Amino acid sequence: MGNADKRVQSVAQSPEKVMNKLVSLAKRRGFIYPSSEIYGGLSSCFDYGPLGSEMKKNIKDLWWISMTRKHRNIVGIDASIMMNPTVWEASGHVSSFNDPMIDDKTTKRRYRADHLIENHIEKLRRDAKEEDAHRVSSYYESASEAEDQNRAFYDIIIAEEIKAPDTGSADWTEVRQFNLMFQCNMGALAESSGKVYLRPETAQGIFVNFHNVRESSRMKVPFGIAQIGKAFRNEIVKGNFIFRMVEFEQMEMQYFVKPGTQVESFESWREERFNWYIERLGITPEKLHWYKHDKLAHYADLAYDIKFEYPFGIEEIEGIHSRTDFDLKQHQEFSGKNMEYIDQTTNERYIPYVVETSAGSDRLFLALLCDSYTEDVIDGEQRVMMRFAPKIAPVKAAILPLMKKGEMGEKAAKLRDELATDFMVQYDDAGSIGKRYRRQDEIGTPFCFTVDHDSMEDHSVTVRYRDTAKQERIEISKVKEFLGAKLV
Ligand code: ATP
Repeated sequence: MGNADKRVQSVAQSPEKVMNKLVSLAKRRGFIYPSSEIYGGLSSCFDYGPLGSEMKKNIKDLWWISMTRKHRNIVGIDASIMMNPTVWEASGHVSSFNDPMIDDKTTKRRYRADHLIENHIEKLRRDAKEEDAHRVSSYYESASEAEDQNRAFYDIIIAEEIKAPDTGSADWTEVRQFNLMFQCNMGALAESSGKVYLRPETAQGIFVNFHNVRESSRMKVPFGIAQIGKAFRNEIVKGNFIFRMVEFEQMEMQYFVKPGTQVESFESWREERFNWYIERLGITPEKLHWYKHDKLAHYADLAYDIKFEYPFGIEEIEGIHSRTDFDLKQHQEFSGKNMEYIDQTTNERYIPYVVETSAGSDRLFLALLCDSYTEDVIDGEQRVMMRFAPKIAPVKAAILPLMKKGEMGEKAAKLRDELATDFMVQYDDAGSIGKRYRRQDEIGTPFCFTVDHDSMEDHSVTVRYRDTAKQERIEISKVKEFLGAKLV
């Protein structure tokens, strides 16, 4: 079966259609479904299906290994979603976790006023209108500091004639502030004393555990604490599938450093995180972009975003922030507990500075779907293929007996069982072999092992590579080792 010379030919994509195709494929093949669909769904909420949950776990595992185990001085935690409500007063979320919103009176759609302005500045930069970009950017900077920020943002939107990106309409209301935290009541009574929040970020669970982790794990500055977990924000969502949701998952790491060393640390994390997407996930480098924040959050002294070129625009996937000593200082003030670190060798005392890397696993999932989607023609037949890195692919290998009955089927089932404890594999004996390859290509399975007549004699199988459709013979006893080597 030596057909190593099969040609793979790319078919040009229409970016507008890609999202529709992805949403449909995601549902049909069990990656992502609309939440509570039989009741008409719930806006901006989604469920991960069998393949989606497997793939999301792969993404999170890869992040976890890269951000904890690979670093001798980073450990992980899993903090609770609900915390003492004073945490959110200390962090500033109760008073200022607001988004400036603006409505379009004609279309009744709501937008983030700051996003409209930032996108406008970015577009000016992309169009090489540097002078205009600089002018608007400095207006924006002073508007962000203005006492009446709402009015200042509104003025920029009107003066620049900024239009809604999706409809082109510009029939704007005033700008208003909305708090993004979900509130709920703990205990039986709906009293204000029982009011708690669903965490809007995982970071605070790390800050409040600074001393617990430092002491229990005997950590010395610089050290990091990592966490993966759900976060909730009552945001305005304008579609784009799972890009922006009210319930989502963050993968965050807070790195505690000595004051004065934060810029150096920031630069090194910036490089490491950007390369991670390319080297570990295989994302197309040209689709990743840096965005430097001109307008900084109240806690930050430096901030960059890693953005990905989604079909609907270039959008944030991860934020890298130098958060100063703001959070620990605030918790010291509000809790009355000393948050200082004492350097045992120099006896210096200080509140550490924090460099944070904060990524969203759902946005990354979507980026991988978008980046991997490929339509090509192979042997004159059109196919859809998800070009996932083997580490990320939900199914690592498919075991396909040429005939389902008799010894061939048994041999294939045995191979499947042997592999299943170490790898996510699928057994498929339904339909022609070509159809089965297509089914696996569409979910991004990197390898298919076919058990055929010769396998009965030579105890070998044919391995077919997804991307090239190239095929080779391999001994059955070597399949496990083969897969292990491909998944490092
Ligand atoms: P945006 O500007 O897009 O609202 P943000 O700057 O508020 O994002 P951060 O607070 O820095 O985001 O959160 C870190 C990461 O968490 C983001 O880079 C993103 O991947 C993810 N994230 C934030 N909000 C959402 C959301 N509503 N849905 C999905 N992921 C999100």
